Amino acid sequence: LGGSISRALQQMSNATIIDEKVLNDCLNEITRALLQSDVQFKLVRDMQTNIKKIVNLDDLAAGHNKRKIIQQAVFNELCTILDPGKPAFTPKKGKPSVVMFVGLQGSGKTTTCTKYAYYHQKKGYKPALVCADTFRAGAFDQLKQNATKAKIPFYGSYTESDPVRIAVEGVERFKKENCDLIIVDTSGRHKQEAALFEEMRQVSESTKPDLVLFVMDSSIGQAAFDQAQAFKQSVPVGAVIVTKMDGHAKGGGALSAVAATKSPVIFIGTGEHMDEFEIFDVKPFVSRLLGMGDWSGFMDKIQEVVPMDQQPELLQKLSEGNFTLRIMYEQFQNILKMGPIGQVFSMLPGFSQELMPKGQEKESQTKIKRYMTMMDSMTNEGKFILHKHIQNLLTELDSSNPKIMNESRIIRIARGCGRPIRDVMDMLEEYKRLAKVWSKMKGLKIPKKGDMSAL
Ligand code: GDP
Ligand code: MG
Repeated sequence: LGGSISRALQQMSNATIIDEKVLNDCLNEITRALLQSDVQFKLVRDMQTNIKKIVNLDDLAAGHNKRKIIQQAVFNELCTILDPGKPAFTPKKGKPSVVMFVGLQGSGKTTTCTKYAYYHQKKGYKPALVCADTFRAGAFDQLKQNATKAKIPFYGSYTESDPVRIAVEGVERFKKENCDLIIVDTSGRHKQEAALFEEMRQVSESTKPDLVLFVMDSSIGQAAFDQAQAFKQSVPVGAVIVTKMDGHAKGGGALSAVAATKSPVIFIGTGEHMDEFEIFDVKPFVSRLLGMGDWSGFMDKIQEVVPMDQQPELLQKLSEGNFTLRIMYEQFQNILKMGPIGQVFSMLPGFSQELMPKGQEKESQTKIKRYMTMMDSMTNEGKFILHKHIQNLLTELDSSNPKIMNESRIIRIARGCGRPIRDVMDMLEEYKRLAKVWSKMKGLKIPKKGDMSAL
């Protein structure tokens, strides 16, 4: 009897040790990934402590997929850090709002101002840009060029050296012109210094912005917390935009920025161009930080929503990185077959709020159906009247670069499906956006079926 008790005890303590070891190994691995992604050391350490409290070792002992339990706990913890608990100010159409951009020089303020303006312009706002950067030579020219390209009214001066004066004049003028989103671009300095913060404070006090947006370069590493905090101490930062997410940096500084400013990240910059700008989506961002790729949730979802026999084929296509209109069509088909559609959508990479804002599932479904109808009129399935020239488009469905979608072809598709040209353009825009997300899949290691749950 004594022998069996001691054996049992031993087994129990072994089990605990093993699970604690699993927990520690796993946490250490995750910690490394997070530090490499520039998450602040202190945040990582606190997270580690929290996880140890949260994760129930008994669950680990009983559960089979220990890594998954731990990873999920870390995932949730990081998502919580990124949620400051109150949403950022959103401008209302037809009501004048002032949004002031702050950040160090080179962080991407001027570029992001235009992206932000352009984004809202497409949504029906009347934006305007004010250049209150009198510090850097060429600042006004840069803003002017960007604004002109996007056909957005702008204000600035080559001779006035007082940023406060320009900011106030610009805001006044555009209020008179009934602009509902007046964006004030400010100067930066190479370093955080007193003069910069004093200037920001003055511009902010004189223009009374509805929102102060802190722009941060994703590659600044561990400096993120101090930088964000310094700005927050001078001006009432209410939201964050992280730029250059197209580069190597994974942007762990975003967590620091949220922690330091108690404000949410609202957008990310993913390139130098005007439309390389995305709504910040917490879950894919955290997946990326953890080195899970944006795709681990997606993999699970594929197993759930894509018919078994189509899975290998789809995964193969994914790994080749060729996203064709036909793949988009097939994915839309899968999505429509599933319910509740909202849940599936939120998991699919790229199908974020853009295509399907929360609470608008019905509208989105209609939109997707509309897109599919348009694509139908590009196929030879016979259900739709087929013009001879549309026949030529058939190859396009399978091309990963439908660049020969010129005007006359778009007109023909529109005619073929009885939709306005604008709708066809929208559909192609959506395709381009998804194709970009998809291209990141290139070279993806395809997990074998059994391995997927171990992700
Ligand atoms: P500012 O000094 O804060 O106004 O920064 P700028 O807007 O002038 O941007 C500095 C540089 O960063 C420019 O060369 C931009 O083209 C570039 N840039 C800004 N945002 C992004 C981005 O999201 N991705 C990439 N790759 N480059 C960016
Ligand atoms: Mg600038």
